[in-house]
Amino acid sequence: MSTHIDPVCGKRMNVNKAHIVITHEGQDYYLCCPLCQKEFEQNPAKYMQKKSKYKRR
Ligand SMILES: [Zn+2]
Repeated sequence: MSTHIDPVCGKRMNVNKAHIVITHEGQDYYLCCPLCQKEFEQNPAKYMQKKSKYKRR
């Protein structure tokens, strides 16, 4: 059993209880609720981990 931290709100959760998992730039992000999902989708660069590269135009 593993836990992940929601990058939007910082809540620690069991992966089985995550609202949704978003894979972005090869990294999985576990979000606890629709609000966090919406926030992440609106501004993914803000919440991405630095080790994943973000391509800018
Ligand atoms: Zn959350």
